[in-house]
Parts: sequence; structure tokens; C-alpha cells
Amino acid sequence: MYTDIIKIGISACLAGEKVRFDTGHKKSNFCMDELGKHVEYTRFCPEVAVGLPIPRPTIRQVKVGETIKVCRPDGTGDVGQQLTEYGKKVATEQAKELSGFVFCAKSPSCGMERIKIYNEAGTGNTSEGVGFFAEQIMKHNPLLPCEENGRLNDMHLRENFVMRVYVFKNWQKLVQEPLTVHKLTQFHAQYKYLLMAHNYQAYRDLGSLLGTYVGGDINLIADEYILGLMTGLKKPASRRNNCNTLMHLQGYFKKDLSKIEKQELREAIDEYREGLVPLYVPLTLLKHHLKVHPNEYLAKQVYFNPYPHDLKLRFGI
Ligand code: SF4
Repeated sequence: MYTDIIKIGISACLAGEKVRFDTGHKKSNFCMDELGKHVEYTRFCPEVAVGLPIPRPTIRQVKVGETIKVCRPDGTGDVGQQLTEYGKKVATEQAKELSGFVFCAKSPSCGMERIKIYNEAGTGNTSEGVGFFAEQIMKHNPLLPCEENGRLNDMHLRENFVMRVYVFKNWQKLVQEPLTVHKLTQFHAQYKYLLMAHNYQAYRDLGSLLGTYVGGDINLIADEYILGLMTGLKKPASRRNNCNTLMHLQGYFKKDLSKIEKQELREAIDEYREGLVPLYVPLTLLKHHLKVHPNEYLAKQVYFNPYPHDLKLRFGI
């Protein structure tokens, strides 16, 4: 059960608001109808916020000398500076309350990456731009899980984003109170297997970071720790790493399970390894064994339940 309110920022058009240049929207069904059951969205339309009307002429990024403008195709109406200032204001005043952000792809204001930058004559472009609003949010909140609507159609990226949102929310909750070594170690203990599945090197590095702590400013260690954790978890968990993690977890039950049960579990892991069944199959079996043979340490592992089950995110990976 997740009882905390999780707040996520979202480009307003993805939330179904008719704020686009042509009075349309780009509602994300996953964000609004599925994830929306579990989170609270704060909506932002930076173009409307800086005073552009609905409808409005399209705008795009245009390189003029060393400067990039965000203007109409004819070069007029540059709102680059306003978008940057508005983005910085949201990033520093409101985004600290958020545990994630979903941006609208391809927009010169909201896109996270690969935004087209046109040459001044409008005859060519590169795809190296970042939306002016999104850039500020990400720059001032480097730990904040961010994703684009298009990428969320990929089940691995979707699962990874939602998982990171829940991890980050737990971290935000932890650091509301003064931190101690004990609290930090306890926090890390519950993420051990989740991190192992995503990034074995980060799992080792963070274990060693906390294991070798002998005093000093705990907040400095905490900063290093959370940066390592959020960066490590960004790497999608490969089938191979998940299998490795499942095998480790299986080891906890070696004295409790019958020969047949062990074989059944091994077969479920092998079938997952071969791509015949999704991750939830061996995990469900492991969770069943955990219920029958309780283990306090394992029960705390976030790997078993990183987010609400009804999101069905482990059905597709
Ligand atoms: S992409 Fe961003 S700026 Fe454009 S309509 Fe959507 S919210 Fe507004």
C-alpha cells in the first residue's frame, strides 16, 4: 500500500488540456488513466505561461550566430528568454515538491532531447536541441526522474521511470527528517536487490561508500549516495541482471523448499531468461514462498513491490 501523495509535473497538453498551438491536446492515456490513479499531477504549459495565445503560430528553435531563439518560422516573436526565466522559476520554486516530470516530446519548449534547431534561412536543421523549459527543470533538479510521453510507450522505459519516481519519493520522505548513518544504511538495505538488478557496479560502489563511512558530514555522503542510486537505477534492468537477482533471492529459500518447489522456481527463472514468460512469473512464485516462509530482511526488499501492482508494469518486461 502506498499512502503518500506523489506529485508529478506534466506538460499540460499531455494531461488533456487544449493548450497547443492549434487548440488541440496530446493526452497521454497511460499518464492520465493509469498512472493518474496513483499520483497527483501539476500541469505546466510554458508557452501559455509566457503569454502566447491559443491558438498561436508555431514556434521553433532557430540558431542565429551563437544564439538559439525560440521564434516563429519567419524569425519574429522570440520567447526564448521568457521560456528560460519561467522554467527557472518553476524549477527552483515548484519542482522541489515533485517526484517526477513527464514532458511532451519534440516541443521547442517542453522536449527533453533531440529538438530540431533550424538554421536562420530555415533550409536545414539538426536535432541537438533541448526544450527551453525542460532544460531548466532538469538542470536545477538533476535527481528528478524525467521522461517524455513518446518514450513512455516503451514498456521498459515506462517501468523504469515509474520505479524511479517511487524511489525518489521515498528518498524525499527520508530526508525530511535529519539524516543519520543508521537511517541511510537502512534505506540502502531495502534497495539492495533492486539496484543489483539495474546496475551491479552501482550496487557494489554504493555498498562500499556506506561500508567505509567512518564519520564526517553525513549530508555529503547522502548527496553522493542518492546521486549514485538515481543514476544507477536509470539503467534499465536487463533480463540477465534480473535473472542474477532472482537467483540470489532464490538462495534464501534453499532450506525451506522441497525438491519439486526448487525445480519449479528454477524453471520459472529459466523461462524468464529465455523470454518465454514476463518477470512477474518468477517474482510471483518468489513472493508466494516469502509469504509461506517469512523473512524480515527479504520482506523489506523494494524489488518485490517497487510500485503499485495494478500498474501491471512487470507484465511487459
Ligand atoms: S508541449 Fe509544452 S508548450 Fe507545447 S502545448 Fe504542450 S505544454 Fe504547452
